[in-house]
Amino acid sequence: MTDFDYDLFVIGGGSGGVRAARVAAATGAKVALAEEYRMGGTCVIRGCVPKKLMVFASEYREMFDDARAYGWDVQDGQFDWPRFRTKLHAELDRLEGVYRRLLDGSGVDIIDSRATLADAHTVKLADSSTKSAKHILVATGGRPQLPDMKNADLGITSNDIFKLEALPKSILIVGGGYIACEFACILHGLGVEVTQFYRGAQILRGFDDEARGLVSEEMQQRGVNLHLGTNVLEMEKREGGVWVKATNGTETTFDHVMFATGRAPNTEGMGLADIGVALGRQGEIVVDDYSQTKVPSVFAIGDVTNRVQLTPVAIREAMAFVETVFHGKPTKVDHHLIPSAIFTQPEMGTVGLSEEAARDIEPVDIYCTSFKPMQQAFAGRSDRVLMKLVVSKETRRVLGCHIVSPHAGEMIQLAGIAVKMGATKEDFDRTVAVHPTISEELVTMRDPVRSG
Ligand code: NDP
Repeated sequence: MTDFDYDLFVIGGGSGGVRAARVAAATGAKVALAEEYRMGGTCVIRGCVPKKLMVFASEYREMFDDARAYGWDVQDGQFDWPRFRTKLHAELDRLEGVYRRLLDGSGVDIIDSRATLADAHTVKLADSSTKSAKHILVATGGRPQLPDMKNADLGITSNDIFKLEALPKSILIVGGGYIACEFACILHGLGVEVTQFYRGAQILRGFDDEARGLVSEEMQQRGVNLHLGTNVLEMEKREGGVWVKATNGTETTFDHVMFATGRAPNTEGMGLADIGVALGRQGEIVVDDYSQTKVPSVFAIGDVTNRVQLTPVAIREAMAFVETVFHGKPTKVDHHLIPSAIFTQPEMGTVGLSEEAARDIEPVDIYCTSFKPMQQAFAGRSDRVLMKLVVSKETRRVLGCHIVSPHAGEMIQLAGIAVKMGATKEDFDRTVAVHPTISEELVTMRDPVRSG
C-alpha cells in the first residue's frame, strides 16, 4: 500500500496517455487519467483518424475519371460535405467510446477535468480538489500554433476544418509541412480552390529533396496553386472573406485562411515550471531517455515533449515508461529509423536518411527510378512515382528509402522493417519481385544513378 491516492496519475487522454494508463493498470497499479476535452486526443479526435477519412473521401474525385477510362459508365457526382461530416463525427464518437471502455475495462479511474500540477506528487483538478500520486505522467500533447502576426486569429487551423458548416469555395493554406500539404490535397480533392503559401524554397523541408520535389510537382499538376518563397504579409476581414496581401505583392480574398505553421506543446498554465520541471524553448517538457523530467516523480511522453510528433512514437514512449517504472526494467525509447508517411496525393513514405543528410555523413550510392505507374497511365494520367534507396558505399546498408506513390504509406511500413534490420542493397536484390506491382522496383534497381 502506498500513502498516495494513486500509483499513477496520467494527465491527457490521447494515444500516449491512454496506452500508459491501461498497461500500467494491467500491472495491478492504481491508476487515474484526467482529460479536459474528449478521450482519444489529437490522433482520434482532430488528427490522424479524421484526416485519413477525409483523404479517402477526397480520393474519389479522380476515381470517377479513372473508372470511365477503365470502361465504366459513371457520372461525376457532387460531394456532400454535411452528409460526410455527420458520418465522420459519428465515427469519432464511436472511437471515443472505445477508448473510454478500454480504460474502464482496465480499471483506470477516468476523471473528466483539466488537471494541473500542484507539487511533485499532487495534481489539482478544475474543481480545486486534489489527488496525490506516486508517479505523474504528463501526456497533454500539442495544439496548432498561429504565426505571430497582426490578425492571425482571422485564420483557422486543422482543428477547425472538421467542424466547418460548409466547405469553402476557396482557401489559403499557409505552411509547407505535413499538415499544410495533406490538407491542400484533401481540400483540393473535395473541390475547394486551394492556394498554398510556403515561405521556403520547397515544401516538406527536411525530407529527401528529390522526393519532396516530386510531391510538389504532382500537387501543382493536380491543381493546388502552390506559391513557394511566399508568405502572408497582411490580412484583414473584408466583404466575402479574408483579404490577404502576400510577400509576392498579390492581394486576394479567400473564404478561409488556414494556418498549418507548426504545433506548440500544451504546457501553459500546468504549473510545471513552478514545481521544477524544466521546459524547452518552445515550451516543451524536457525529459531524459526514459521520459523522466527534472522532478523524479514526474514523467512526460508524446507531443508535449516535442521529440517526434507521431502517434506511434507516443505509444512507444508510453510502453517504455511502463517498463521502466512499473516493471523495473529501465527502457529507452528508440527514436532511430522511424518510418512515416505524408498523406498527400501522391503519398510519400520515408524511412532513414535523405540523400542530402546521408552525403553529409558518408559516401553513398543512390538508386532511384521514376516512372508512370500502370494503373494511372492506362487511365491517361501523367502521374509519376518515385522509388529511391540511399545506400552506404562502405557497408552497402540501405540508409534511407523514399517512396512517392499511391499507397506509399503502406509500402514504407514494410520496407521500414528491412531498413531497421540493417538490410543491405544486396538483401533487397536477393528478394524476388512481386509482379506486376509498383513496389517491385525497390528490388530491381540494378545500377546507381549517382554516387558521392
Ligand atoms: P511542421 O513543423 O511539419 O510544419 C510547419 C510548417 O509551417 C513549416 O513548413 C514551416 O516552415 C511553416 N511555418 C512555421 N512558422 C511559420 C510562420 N510564422 N510563417 C509561415 N510559415 C511558417 O508542422 P505541422 O503543423 O505541419 O505538423 C506538426 C507535426 O505533426 C509534424 O511535425 C508531424 O510530426 C505531425 N504530423 C504527422 C502527420 C503524419 O504522420 N502523416 C500528419 C500531420 C502531422 P519552415 O519549413 O520554413 O520552418
